[in-house]
Order: sequence, then structure tokens, then C-alpha cells
Amino acid sequence: MNAQDEYLQLKNHWRDKILSSYYVVVGIVFLAELVLFLYMYILTDAFHYNPVKYVFLYVIIPTSINLISVGCAQFIQKYSESELVKKYAVVCSLLIICTVICTIHSFFLISSAAFVAPIVVSCILDDEKVTKMSGIASAILLVVTSFLPPIFDDAWKPSQRWYNVIAGLVLLLVVYYICQSLCSYTKEKNEIIFQTSLTQERMHNAIRMDAMTGLFNHSEFYHCLEAGIRWCHDNDKTISVVVIDVDFFKSVNDTYGHDKGDIVLIKIAEILKSQCSERAKAFRYGGEEFGMILYDYTQELTFDLIENIRQMIYQEKFSFMPDRHCSISAGIYQYNGEDMSSEEVFEKADKAMYQAKQNGRNRTVCADI
Ligand code: GH3
Ligand code: MG
Ligand code: MG
Repeated sequence: MNAQDEYLQLKNHWRDKILSSYYVVVGIVFLAELVLFLYMYILTDAFHYNPVKYVFLYVIIPTSINLISVGCAQFIQKYSESELVKKYAVVCSLLIICTVICTIHSFFLISSAAFVAPIVVSCILDDEKVTKMSGIASAILLVVTSFLPPIFDDAWKPSQRWYNVIAGLVLLLVVYYICQSLCSYTKEKNEIIFQTSLTQERMHNAIRMDAMTGLFNHSEFYHCLEAGIRWCHDNDKTISVVVIDVDFFKSVNDTYGHDKGDIVLIKIAEILKSQCSERAKAFRYGGEEFGMILYDYTQELTFDLIENIRQMIYQEKFSFMPDRHCSISAGIYQYNGEDMSSEEVFEKADKAMYQAKQNGRNRTVCADI
């Protein structure tokens, strides 16, 4: 996984975490409503509402709306392709929860302070656009819910609401500007972290790669071979190890020059890469020698693949040597989980490659198991 994917995964993970925390918020609100109802119903004489209607309006309907809004936001996280839509969903879900709380409790002036929460959450999502949207939406919903008459209470005085709205808007404005600054700070910090991890990733790739051919290098070959041997032991599988050597390559250099020799090596590497997959990796072992590690390939399949590669290389035409073919000799060793070191496994494939040289070059030989 590269740095960019890791960064996206981290953002997804945190959005999921925020949404899960909304369930806790909804649960707390639900319990608070229930306790408030029981307190008023059992302990105070002043409760003169219909209890069933009260529970329905103050507990069941609000909790259902809250749960549906969090559920929808989770659905969007799962199925939406757009990062921005996912962020909006997280904020909107909390805006709905706050609106529900303020609508049913517009009697309690303090409930308007809940609208600070969407602004703070949007700040965690580190997107100035989303923070701006949540700031505006919070302000509008604060004004609207402040003037909604309470469902049951008759002691509601509209004139007092203005003080609440002004105090609420000032609070939102302060929080909004603090969050905007935090948002910019987080963004800059994340950018530095992201660029550092990109550089790290590039450096990590550079030490695993051969610069000229773009294939994995010698040390990566042994790293993969050791991992492959462990994989065979753990999963009762086999790997095919292939050593490829270019025939009479010194004469290519001597006849056409070292730079033309490089062109041949780069072309061979391209052909090898074209045959690579999740289960087939190619390496530049060193000089004009290449290696391949094939996971869960039978010896027959490996032989067919290498023969195909050998023919592709043989048929390749190089403009600077029109009358000459480039050929390779290859050795295959099928490793079946024997107790061997990576050097011993390589040795077996290398010996098979020398056998191919001795048998006349331009051929593939499988080592005896
Ligand atoms: P054989 O068929 O027995 O393998 O003969 P050969 O000529 O290929 O083998 P030898 O080991 O004598 O020569 C390998 C040559 O590969 C010698 C070296 O100069 C050349 N070589 C190694 N690395 C590079 C490289 O990066 N670029 C170029 N152009 N040549 C290289
Ligand atoms: Mg050689
Ligand atoms: Mg050679």
C-alpha cells in the first residue's frame, strides 16, 4: 500500500470512528430523555401531559430520526465514491441530531450550544469548505430552532429568544474561527507528513529497484526468495525460482558498444515485466543475469512461461544488430518446501542455467528435484 492509499484509509477509518461515536451521543440523548421523563412522571406532581404521547414525541421519534441519520451517513461512507460527499454526510448527520435536540428542547436555551459540535467535527475532517458549510448551517438551524415553540410548554416567551439567538451566534462565530485556524494548521501539518512519507516511500522503492531496468534488484531477490520459502512452509505450497543469463553478452558490448548493451538489457527487462503478475516477480540479479520467482506455479507452467519469454527475446529485433538475435539461457528450480537456505535454492536454479549453457545456450533447463 502506498502513502496516498494509507492516508485515504486513515481518513476513512476516522470518519467511521466519528460515526460510531454518534451512536454513543444518540444513546446518551435517549437515556437523558428517558430519565427526564421518569423523573417528571414519577417524582413531580407537575407532569400533566399524556405520558404515551410524551414518550412518543420526546423519546421514540427523536431517537428514530437520530438513528436513521447516522445509519444514512454510514451507508454513504460505504457506497459513495466522493471524499467530499462522505465528509458532508458526517457533518449533516450531526447537524440533524443537534436540530432534533434543539427542536424538542427549545425551552432550554442552553440546548442551542449543541450546534458547536458540527463545527468541531468538521474541523477534525480537515476540510475548510466543509467547516464553512457546517458553520453556516449551524447558524441557520440555531436561529430556526430557537424560535420553534415547545411541543407542550406554554411558558414560552418569544422576546427572550432573541438574547439566546445573539449569544448562540456569537458562540458559533468564536468556535468557527478557532476551528478554521485549527483546520489550516492540521492541513499544513498533514501535508508535511504526507510529503515526508511520499519521500520515504520513494527512497524505499529506490533501494529495492535497479535504476537502469526498473526491475527489483539483487537484495530484493533474496528478500522475496526468503519470504517465498517461508510462504511455502506455512502454506504447503511451492515456488519456482528461475535464473536467466544473456548469451554471449560480452560480445554484444564488444561489437556494438556498452550503451547498446544497455538497450538490450532494458528491452529484456521490459519483456520480463510484461509477463509479471501478482504471482510472478522479475528481478535483475546483477550484470546480464535476471531472476524470477513464481508463486504456486507448477514446473510445467513455469517452463512454458520461460520458454515464451525466451522466444520473445529471441524474436526481438534491435536496429543496431540487424543480423543478430539476442538469446538467453534459463534454469528453473521447483522448490517444494525442502529444508534449504535461499542461497542453496538459488544455487540449484543457477546450476540448471549452466546446464542450459553447456547444452548449447538459447534454451531452458529444469533442475532435478
Ligand atoms: P555467456 O553466454 O557465457 O553468458 O557469455 P557472456 O558473454 O554473456 O558472459 P560474460 O560473463 O563473459 O559477460 C557478461 C558481460 O555482461 C560482461 C559485462 O561487461 C556485461 N555487463 C554486465 N553488466 C552490464 C551492464 O549493466 N551493461 C552492459 N552493457 N553490460 C554489462
Ligand atoms: Mg553471466
Ligand atoms: Mg551471459
